[in-house]
Amino acid sequence: MPGRLLLLAIATAVFAWIAIDLTRVAGSVSSVWIANGIVVGVLLFVPTRAWRWFIAAGWIGEFVARMLHGDALVPSVGNSLANVLEIACIAGAIRVRVPDITDASRLLTLAFTATTSTLVACAISALLAASINALRGGASFGEVFLTWYTAHVIGMVIVATLVVVARREGRWIIGRPGRHVDYALCMGALIGVCAVVFMQERLPLLFLVFVPLMLVVFRHGFAGVVGATVIIAVMSGVATALETGPFALVSGASLLQRTLLLQLFVAATCMLAFPVATGLSERRRLAVRYRTLADFSRDLVVRMSAEGAPSYVSPAIRHVLGYEPEEFLRARWDLVNPEDIPEASAAFQRIAATGVSEPVTFRILHKAGYEIWVEVAAERVESGDPDSPWELVASARDISKRMQALAALDESQSRLRAVADNMPALIVHIDAEERYTFINAYYERLFGRKPDELLGRTIREARGEEAYDEWAPFIHRALEGQEQKFEREPSGSSAGRYLQSHFVPDNAPDGSNRGFYALTFDITPLKEAEQALAKLARVDTLTGLGNRRQFDERLEHAIARSRRQGTPLVLMSLDLDKFKAINDTHGHPAGDAVLQAFAERLTACVRDVDVVARLGGDEFVVLIEDARAVEDAEVVVGKILAVSQAPVVFEGAALSFGASIGIAFVLQAASANALIALADKALYEAKAAGRNTWRVIED
Ligand code: GH3
Ligand code: MG
Repeated sequence: MPGRLLLLAIATAVFAWIAIDLTRVAGSVSSVWIANGIVVGVLLFVPTRAWRWFIAAGWIGEFVARMLHGDALVPSVGNSLANVLEIACIAGAIRVRVPDITDASRLLTLAFTATTSTLVACAISALLAASINALRGGASFGEVFLTWYTAHVIGMVIVATLVVVARREGRWIIGRPGRHVDYALCMGALIGVCAVVFMQERLPLLFLVFVPLMLVVFRHGFAGVVGATVIIAVMSGVATALETGPFALVSGASLLQRTLLLQLFVAATCMLAFPVATGLSERRRLAVRYRTLADFSRDLVVRMSAEGAPSYVSPAIRHVLGYEPEEFLRARWDLVNPEDIPEASAAFQRIAATGVSEPVTFRILHKAGYEIWVEVAAERVESGDPDSPWELVASARDISKRMQALAALDESQSRLRAVADNMPALIVHIDAEERYTFINAYYERLFGRKPDELLGRTIREARGEEAYDEWAPFIHRALEGQEQKFEREPSGSSAGRYLQSHFVPDNAPDGSNRGFYALTFDITPLKEAEQALAKLARVDTLTGLGNRRQFDERLEHAIARSRRQGTPLVLMSLDLDKFKAINDTHGHPAGDAVLQAFAERLTACVRDVDVVARLGGDEFVVLIEDARAVEDAEVVVGKILAVSQAPVVFEGAALSFGASIGIAFVLQAASANALIALADKALYEAKAAGRNTWRVIED
């Protein structure tokens, strides 16, 4: 910072000295004072807390210049303090209103604040200087005030602006890149005109200066204004000092009066050029901003009538639709898919009529010949045309990829739906709140009701309290993330069926639970097959009677019951007599027919509750549980022996057979085997007694 302070002090001293030495008129006041402009320009780019040092450096520079020039101490101190006050007022006002002077959006405020604060602050400093001068008996108060005021305003306007523009534009102060030649030509034209105007004293051609000035302003904005005003101020100042140029034509005017005229002229130049440059700059900035938005947006931006006729089409149309913007400056409904026209056109009319925006999607033909989907977001704006007061500003984007993705998703979803609906299983999704969110078509096949009646309802609501209580443990565990599998026999319309359910937790990628899938299979055929198999395993296939396995099971139960109830048990062991001979004589099928007939007859001799079984070969058993006495058993035996007498007719042959029966009558059986052994023993006795008879052993 010390280096910069020193530099500022030296610059202030040099410019103050030049102003004092070269342009001092009216005895003590300079005609152009640019030192203050330099200090203000510098202050605007340094933090406020450092201002006092820079102001002090500026003051020291000016004070030294005055002392070197040989001015008296009191006016030197007074005038330089007036300058410090002026600098502080202007820089302070700008800092308060526009803290960041590089902020392009505050340019107008900056220009207004700088102008008003300059006019006011220079008046204050002029008042002080003129008063000091008058008190010391110098030139008249009015002359000093006017000269000081004009010199400072011009100096401030030119130099402060120069500094600000130089800081903001950097090296572009001599024209933007690629425009240096143009800048040089413009400046050359200005210098040439100024030379013609100021380097002669015959013709009052002052007005000619405004022609190249305006050229420069329009072509180079602020950079041009600053350069041009410096050139005009310098050339007109030098000419006036040399007593030539248009001001020398004013007959009888003193140097002071001509200087005042010069100052007025330079001020007028500034007041003409700066507002024009400010306005141009602001317009260019806004134009660039908005054009940039529309022109460089990837989305197509269109301004169009409610009927769809564009008045502006952004260049994005090239990549969105392949057309040049000019090819689209009329309604192009011819490119829109006819199916989509009625809806899209109605939507645009609606937006224009109501002002309520809504997305409009339609298919439109790309120049390359294929169709794309576009989504248009349109806003209503005033058109300024009383006949059709509204226009639409719309941005359109190619959403073909999105539509393709949606279509693909749609297709995959319906494919999944079809797969799910045709699965021979009930597929249900239950969310974390236990609501049905998905049910496949199998539900209707299984329960005869539409799945819709369940969707959105909770399990408890849809299935009732009882069913819910039954499933609650499985539901809760599935919602905790555990897979569940259970079987159930539904009631109601699906009674008689067997269902097997799998609850598979539906976990989100973040690990949280979203519910579960319930996959339910109808396992009734399986169950029935299982039951049939179980039954088959207990049945004698030839006779349809129970087999040994069934007999063993039922005997165990009967013994247990007999023990509990203290009732006797009767077990008959039966064996056909000389059965082998039937096989041998008439063949195995004949033997089978006899076995079947005997089984039937045997069953007819006992009651339903009694157990009849074929243990194998020609060996049968009858278990009677409710015989009160051995006589009851003897009655049954009598019947059996009687039915055994009738021959069995097989393929025309009458097959006679007989049976021997051993009866065990026990009040309490020690075991199944003991009971069987007892009956076998009785049978053996019956066989030994000549067959076709019975024996009983009581225990
Ligand atoms: P017994 O009077 O001593 O009982 O003489 P039996 O000829 O009946 O002799 P046994 O009871 O020992 O023989 C049973 C026969 O039954 C032997 C076998 O050939 C026959 N057999 C066993 N199972 C079947 C069958 O399923 N069908 C037919 N047709 N015969 C069978
Ligand atoms: Mg036998």
